Amino acid sequence: MIACDRCNEHAVYFSRGDGAHLCGAHLMEKVEAKTAGMLASYTLADNERIAVALSGGKDSTVLLWLMNMLLGKRAADRLVAITVDEGIRDYRDETLAAARRLTHRLGIRHIIVSFQDLFGADLDSLLIGNRERACSVCGVYRRQALQQTAVEAGAGVLATGHCLDDEAQSVLMNYLRGDLTRIAGTLPEGTGYIPRIKPLGRVSEKEVVVYGMVASLLSPLPECPYTAHALRAEVRRALGVLEYRFPGTMLRIVEGEADLKRTVSGMVPPSALSKCDRCGAPCSGTICQRCKIEDLLDRRGNLQ
Ligand code: SF4
Repeated sequence: MIACDRCNEHAVYFSRGDGAHLCGAHLMEKVEAKTAGMLASYTLADNERIAVALSGGKDSTVLLWLMNMLLGKRAADRLVAITVDEGIRDYRDETLAAARRLTHRLGIRHIIVSFQDLFGADLDSLLIGNRERACSVCGVYRRQALQQTAVEAGAGVLATGHCLDDEAQSVLMNYLRGDLTRIAGTLPEGTGYIPRIKPLGRVSEKEVVVYGMVASLLSPLPECPYTAHALRAEVRRALGVLEYRFPGTMLRIVEGEADLKRTVSGMVPPSALSKCDRCGAPCSGTICQRCKIEDLLDRRGNLQ
């Protein structure tokens, strides 16, 4: 038996970064401390309502559990969970049920919204003939669904379950796409969206999964059938190899990007906010992301 470095209990987790073996209790302590630290780094108004994007998957499940724990008695008043039903056959029903069980157990208000209701079609139908663009299409509609619902629920901020791995992948994807405004953090301000916070942003996916297992929060769930088409899947594989061979790679990527943004923010002002030529929504170019997707799907005229 390998013992925990902090006590003599059975170790359930090994961190290649610092060579530490941790038992369930000490792994939980570590994850809770990191999440509390991230949460404290955001400026949140007293009693501000926080919408939590709850897909029902492992990351958002652990996030809602931790937010509920960290907010204590105020959690039920301050948190509202939002689940977006994109309409993905053989996937979404089970994660929706998991999300319902969790919010019921924690006594947290839960709102479910669907692409069908908001945009007039489910994702499976939207992707006929466009399967390889699944995540781009899904991402744009889901972001809008979450933001719109969060604002309607009176939230001032939206918490998402992005963990350290997701954050490192996003940084790398921005480079692969040559997306300078995102790399430098010079996106325009005042886009009408409420701010997003990522309390798990320094917790690795492995820590999230082990935490969820130790806390008995996770059950086996299907994977989204469109995952295989995503650039993210390739980046995830590559980063996984790098992290294994050079522990700490993901944290260095994320912290390096934060340093870059801090440096650039004093030198380059955010790009100007303009209005979409098509729908008038605030955006950074001439056409907003939603209209670009509507064009791609040949859905002009179906905008709601
Ligand atoms: Fe949407 Fe892609 Fe995530 Fe599936 S993997 S839920 S299509 S973003």
